Amino acid sequence: MDPVPARPSVRILLVEDDADFAEIVRRQLGAVAWADLSVEWAKTLGEALALLAGSSVDLVITDLGLPDSAGLATLERLAGATDRLIIVLTGMPDPRLPEEALARGAYDLVSKDRLDRAGLERLVRLAAMQANTFRALRDSEARFRSLTELTSDWYWEQDAQFRFTVLSGPGAAAMSRGGDPGVYLGKARWEIPDLEPAAGDWSAHRAQLERHEPFRDAQFRRRMADGSVRYMSVSGGPLHDRQGRFIGYRGGAQDITDRKRAEAALHLRNRALESSVNSVMITEQTRAGHAIVYVNPAFERVTGYAAAEVMGRDPRFLHGEDRDQPGVHELRAAVREEREATVLLRNYRKDGTVFWNELRVAPVRDDAGRVTHMVGVTTDVTDRIRYQEQIERQASYDSLTGLPNRNLLNDRAAQAVLQASRSGRALGVMFIDVDHLKRINDSLGHEMGDKVIAAVARRIADTLRAGDTVARLSGGEFVALLADLQRDDDASVVASKLMNAIGAPLRIEAHEFVLTASAGIAVHPKDGADAATLLRNADTALYRAKESGRACFRFFAPEMNERVVRFLALERDLRRALEERELTLHYQPIVRLGSGEAVGAEALLRWPRADGSVTGPAQFIPVAEESGLIVPIGRWVLAQAAHQAAEWNRGRRAPFVVSINLSTRQFRDPGLREAVQAATGGAGVDPSLLRLEITESAVMHNLEEGTRLLHELKDLGVKLSVDDFGTGYSSLGYLKSFPIDTLKIDRSFVRGLPGDRDSLAICRAVIALGRGMGAEVVAEGVETRAQARMLAAEGCELAQGYLFGKPAEPERIRPSRTARKPARGKET
Ligand code: C2E
Ligand code: CA
Ligand code: CA
Repeated sequence: MDPVPARPSVRILLVEDDADFAEIVRRQLGAVAWADLSVEWAKTLGEALALLAGSSVDLVITDLGLPDSAGLATLERLAGATDRLIIVLTGMPDPRLPEEALARGAYDLVSKDRLDRAGLERLVRLAAMQANTFRALRDSEARFRSLTELTSDWYWEQDAQFRFTVLSGPGAAAMSRGGDPGVYLGKARWEIPDLEPAAGDWSAHRAQLERHEPFRDAQFRRRMADGSVRYMSVSGGPLHDRQGRFIGYRGGAQDITDRKRAEAALHLRNRALESSVNSVMITEQTRAGHAIVYVNPAFERVTGYAAAEVMGRDPRFLHGEDRDQPGVHELRAAVREEREATVLLRNYRKDGTVFWNELRVAPVRDDAGRVTHMVGVTTDVTDRIRYQEQIERQASYDSLTGLPNRNLLNDRAAQAVLQASRSGRALGVMFIDVDHLKRINDSLGHEMGDKVIAAVARRIADTLRAGDTVARLSGGEFVALLADLQRDDDASVVASKLMNAIGAPLRIEAHEFVLTASAGIAVHPKDGADAATLLRNADTALYRAKESGRACFRFFAPEMNERVVRFLALERDLRRALEERELTLHYQPIVRLGSGEAVGAEALLRWPRADGSVTGPAQFIPVAEESGLIVPIGRWVLAQAAHQAAEWNRGRRAPFVVSINLSTRQFRDPGLREAVQAATGGAGVDPSLLRLEITESAVMHNLEEGTRLLHELKDLGVKLSVDDFGTGYSSLGYLKSFPIDTLKIDRSFVRGLPGDRDSLAICRAVIALGRGMGAEVVAEGVETRAQARMLAAEGCELAQGYLFGKPAEPERIRPSRTARKPARGKET
């Protein structure tokens, strides 16, 4: 309320046609010092009414007799024009006048001759007070109007029976379906068609009214003409008269349809958030960073944190110590740049386990465009990532050892080469192969073989430096990348260390192994500029190490390349030689030591070349084995030798047996039986005149299969011989069960005779073994008489060697009944 001014201002209208009297009144009023008075003077009623219409006046002092009006009519006209104090001046006393004047709107009557300053002053004071009250009332009315207009759409009043008596305001028409709200006057709220409480029925609202209670935000629903529904919120309070009797209600109402819709939408959105499988988090920007203000149940489920535990915390705690992951950097950039982003994060649950999630963040701006919140929606992609990792691991890692596999090795090798070219340091590429792993697999099973490989893998990995890569290719084959070598020679130091590490006794379950390995090394840049060349050359070097007897390592050297080229050329030439029947067989006699009689001959392949030289089988048999050419060559040898046996035995009583060599691959060839049958059948020769020589290692390779194959061949009627005996690792127990006619002592043991004690011991053992099995023993490579004498003395029955005859064309072999004179040989 406005404060009452210290000096009230009062506007006075003096209506008086007597100028002298008017002057007296003006003068007396002029003496009032406590108020600002302004006095307007009207000589006629017309002038007075015009003044009242133009501006507000606080006090009217009027004479009733005016030139244009007289008596109470003057008063009535003035009272109709103002609601302020009207004082009537009277000339002669009329006893009835006061009563009638007061009834027609005058406040008081003052006799002209009794008008004094004090009386006037009292009237002015009264007018000032009334003016104040009026002003206050007007202000309060204006306030009330603007209040209802601002807070509600319409205003209403009801009588004691709750029937509308007033409905006004901008919203009233709208809610009355665009029509005149007046039609609802005289009706109670529940009598208005299509209007009902938003919840429940009318009884609660009616009961509240009956109790004459104030009510707030009572919500009602109205179906509109177009079928849509609008909502209103109504508040009201009871009205009482001066005596405290209830006379009705009044209040305001609002159309809350939009609010209701927003609420419903919000409710739906909340439901969506609450039931979402994706975890949702809302953070608020704080001075320090971001604070969580909302998380949904999915967040609680995924992270294991309850909402209450995370409220107000910075969401970074979810990254654990993993602050440096790429997703975190991306996320920070997005937050800094206030933009949306999708990032992949590795987060930690409350229990410390890792989960992967794909987080989509979006800034939320206020009306001024400032970012106040961030909304983050995350999808738990742990399963997807695990799957990807698994796929990647499967594609890159060897499942047995956990080491990189060939795929990853190729990548790493390419990287290492790149790095080596940059740093100028040497890079070693080493192929490592565990020797004779096959024997372990064959004798103890693959499971044990795998355990050995895994143990070797650990030893290799432990021996290498952290920066080096070791990969497993297959079987017992590994590749190590040795980065940052000072000198090329350093690779040999590493190789020695590896061989020692692998060679240390290895215990697995009840078995102890002493392993050896072979290795081949190629060095960047000398042995190749790119990874593929280096790997290939290291492999070639490994091959050379194996050729040198295994358990050693070799560097790749340029001549090795030439070797490979020669090998390939040899294969090509051999194929052609087979087609063009350039291969021939030489025969070396096998004699009885006691009599010197030739009892048989061994067929040995020869390859006469165009330049007149002869290539020996030691050079081309490995090529034939590798290329598979050995099978057709072997068939040809069988057929050829069978014909030769037939020829030699024609008309002979004592059998002259032709020995034929079989390589490992031939021995395992499923077509071998049929080839033998075809050869003997084709030549018309008794199978017992052929002796198949199979190396010890070929039979021992797989004992069960070897035994079966031997029996199958034996069933054909051929004789069987174990070649190169003493070089393999025969299981003596098995050997006894083999259907074998001959054991052949390897040349390497005969060579040491007669001086070397070890050689002698082995020869003795083989001879004893043969005797025990009922097999004849042949000593091969006998070059001296001393050797022959010693072997004879030890009980060896048969011999073969340069002493008795070098391999030669069949025409030069003369099977005879009589002992042959030994050829000339040197004595030792
Ligand atoms: P092998 O079965 O051990 O054959 C004996 C080898 O010793 C032959 O070498 C023979 O010439 C040689 N030799 C015989 N007596 C002496 C001697 O007193 N002193 C020396 N230093 N050597 C002697 P060759 O002919 O070079 O054959 C080498 C290997 O090639 C054979 O070893 C055999 O394993 C294989 N081979 C030869 N012909 C065939 C064949 O037709 N098929 C198959 N699969 N392999 C064959
Ligand atoms: Ca042989
Ligand atoms: Ca031999």
